[in-house]
Amino acid sequence: MTSLLADAHVLTLDDAGTEHERGWILVENGLVAAVGAGEEPDADERTSLGGAVVTPGLVNTHHHLYQTLTRARAQQGTLFEWLVELYPTWAGIDAEAEYAAARTGIAELMLSGCTTVFDHHYVFPRGRTGLVEAEVQAARELGCRIVASRGSMDLGVSDGGLPPDALVEEIDAVLADTERLAGELHESGHGARVQIAVAPCSPFSVTGRLMTESAGLARRLGLQLHTHLAETVEEEAYCRELYDCTPVQYLDSLGWLDGDVWCAHCVHLSPAEIGRFAATGTGVAHCPTSNLRLGAGVAPVRELVDAGVRVGLGVDGSASNERSHLANEVKQALLVARGRGGPQAMTARDAFRLGTRGGAAVLGREDIGAIAPGLCADLAVWATDGLELGGAADTVAGLVFAGPHRVDRLYVGGELVVRGGALVRADEAEIARAHRAQAVRFAP
Ligand SMILES: [Zn+2]
Repeated sequence: MTSLLADAHVLTLDDAGTEHERGWILVENGLVAAVGAGEEPDADERTSLGGAVVTPGLVNTHHHLYQTLTRARAQQGTLFEWLVELYPTWAGIDAEAEYAAARTGIAELMLSGCTTVFDHHYVFPRGRTGLVEAEVQAARELGCRIVASRGSMDLGVSDGGLPPDALVEEIDAVLADTERLAGELHESGHGARVQIAVAPCSPFSVTGRLMTESAGLARRLGLQLHTHLAETVEEEAYCRELYDCTPVQYLDSLGWLDGDVWCAHCVHLSPAEIGRFAATGTGVAHCPTSNLRLGAGVAPVRELVDAGVRVGLGVDGSASNERSHLANEVKQALLVARGRGGPQAMTARDAFRLGTRGGAAVLGREDIGAIAPGLCADLAVWATDGLELGGAADTVAGLVFAGPHRVDRLYVGGELVVRGGALVRADEAEIARAHRAQAVRFAP
């Protein structure tokens, strides 16, 4: 069975940056079989996209889906103040709430053009099971790829950490549960729908021993490794006081910086630390809206990209970026880069590349992130006949400059999962209703 998507402006984001103005994409067995312009190949079915822009599906590289349940709290807080206020509320999380939250966040992401979701879950109250499984179930039902991480915290407030003691776990339990989840859920190879990553939370909530043992486990099992790093000036002060070095130096001393690692935020990096990221192949999840929301600062993305560092985009958790809209993060990345470095600092196409190819590279995936023969047919179709793009001299740039759009169609592995701006496999209103019923349990 072959299907042809025709009459499209195709932004392939391949190595050469190829664009096809009157382009088409041939899909077979969930993969892109061919992409081009002009004379169309034969296909079993043909769909005209009416001049829409088609891009690779966006790849989200940092999120905490459960936080949709606790939006708009600690509104003026710094990261640490915000966390201390929210930890006790998050202690109420269970599989039912996690499932409702994951459906909400994933639905929002898909409607914003995202085909692969990474989630960093690190709150595991004692006795609650099935949290990561609930997220994976939500992604499978809605038709999105997911990289779910088994996060962790083991440095409670009585040992000098930030989280309450009731929310930290024992190292052995964390490692055993991570290995169990990897055994049950992780798929390797081309086109994987579900993957597991290892993700101890941060330098101020995890001991050095758990950091080190997590890295050892990830490398033994062939899993990607993730954490938060260098998000705020308070985190840097914390590391200098406890470890007598910066957060990056601390992680480096634990043997973390490597090609199988990506870190969220990386707002506060020195030029030498940017060089260290480049030399070791360590990746970055840039989360501009969350960084602005918490007043954390702006990551040096132009400098990171110029140094050859892998950089992707993340919406971050819904309690510090109340919207899981990844296309908006593409716009935001462009704006903050220009705010730092002037109008030449980032083009619209550079920003799209971060959100697609960049994200795929950060997650260690070579099968997604671009439109090219052999890659997964993960495609976002953006209508150009709405109010936002009329008069745009360049529709691709117009998409980014105009900001939040709802995708018209979304394909994951060649399957249509959003059509006409609506989820194909689920009812958006029902997801919102079920989410409201869970969110009241977390109300202040
Ligand atoms: Zn985060």
